Amino acid sequence: MKKAFPGGIHPNYNKELTAGKPIATLPLPKKVRLLLQQHLGAPCEPKVQKGDEVTVGQLIADSDKFVSAPVHASVAGKVVSVDSEAIEIETDATNSEFQGSPASYQGPEELRQLIREAGIVGLGGATFPTHVKLSPPKDKEVHTLVLNGAECEPFLTTDHRVMVEQGQAVIDGLKLLMEACGASKTLIGIEENKPDAIETLKELSANDDNIQVFGVEVVYPQGGERQLIKTLTGQEVPVGGLPLDLGIVVSNIATAVAVHQAVRQGKPLIDRVVTVSGAGVAEPQNVLVRLGTPVQDLLDFCGGLSEEAAKVVNGGPMMGKALSDLNAPVTKGTSGILAFTEDEVRIYEERTCIRCASCVDACPMKLLPNYLALYSKRKRYETAEDINLFNCIECGCCSYVCPSRIPIVQYIQNAKHEINIKRRK
Ligand code: SF4
Ligand code: SF4
Repeated sequence: MKKAFPGGIHPNYNKELTAGKPIATLPLPKKVRLLLQQHLGAPCEPKVQKGDEVTVGQLIADSDKFVSAPVHASVAGKVVSVDSEAIEIETDATNSEFQGSPASYQGPEELRQLIREAGIVGLGGATFPTHVKLSPPKDKEVHTLVLNGAECEPFLTTDHRVMVEQGQAVIDGLKLLMEACGASKTLIGIEENKPDAIETLKELSANDDNIQVFGVEVVYPQGGERQLIKTLTGQEVPVGGLPLDLGIVVSNIATAVAVHQAVRQGKPLIDRVVTVSGAGVAEPQNVLVRLGTPVQDLLDFCGGLSEEAAKVVNGGPMMGKALSDLNAPVTKGTSGILAFTEDEVRIYEERTCIRCASCVDACPMKLLPNYLALYSKRKRYETAEDINLFNCIECGCCSYVCPSRIPIVQYIQNAKHEINIKRRK
């Protein structure tokens, strides 16, 4: 299925570094640091104190706000510190295997509550609390679940491996998601560079008339929520609107598996699969890791950084953020830890815009990135807003194609940040 949205780019995908390798499991870390805010929305308040003994999967932080998601102990052990940002637990390695039992529920509301209590958020990187997405307002009816298996960011292959290795859990999870939001069908979009995943999910859903699996064109950002909806349904999410306005809820592969585990095993979100890759990593692979594990432990497990490694990124190369501290913990939103060499991250000097319009052609949101960058740089924020600054999905296509090496998306992010600060005052 061809993309139906404008723009997009074809970067080097480099997925072969990890796509064919089974998911490995990281040994238990000695200590975990669980951030109180691993999601979009209100931060959690600690529910434990220094010195407490906790069991694996125990609730340790929560919020009474609707748009939030609780945090659970990812290991058993002793709470060694609690501060305004995080809870640290020293691991009791003899007691940290999670053992739960299936949860019971009656009706969609109780199912959404279960999903909330399990602390599940969008694991594609957005980290929006899943129970909120599944709770449409009374005047909006959901008919379709779009399951996003595009995984269009270069290097990342977690969803690919999960689809191949845990296909049954994906299918069960999506059925639970449908039940929770009232959707009567699911469309699954998977980029065509994952033929084994497409085949697996087609086989496993062959008897389900209300589940359709589509191979979609390999083009970044095919996995953008709006872009995938356009490709799969031909419909466009209105400017300033949400997929819900079309009766659609979008969820991600790993999120569906987390829902399956929460309901069928009573397991809250305490671990996730992370792609560790890039030319700066000795042994790239996908690793199942407890939340709160230091990034350094993950890198060590993958043979450590090579001598040429110059930059470590949390997330994909297009939308990820540089990591300055390798002791930073893995969070619910960590889909990848990538290490790049000096050659790959060479910093180029920004030059003057030559008005080539390459950025305009590449923009999947039909924006004018060159003007957004110009107005943002000159702090003309109102003018930038007038030309739809906030419609930018920060995909980075514009910066990628710019021959003048203008860091367009950074200017846009700065402008949004400044405007948001002003609004909060
Ligand atoms: S980062 Fe924003 S402006 Fe640039 S291409 Fe993506 S959507 Fe368009
Ligand atoms: S791609 Fe770069 S040089 Fe070309 S118009 Fe856009 S900002 Fe200017």
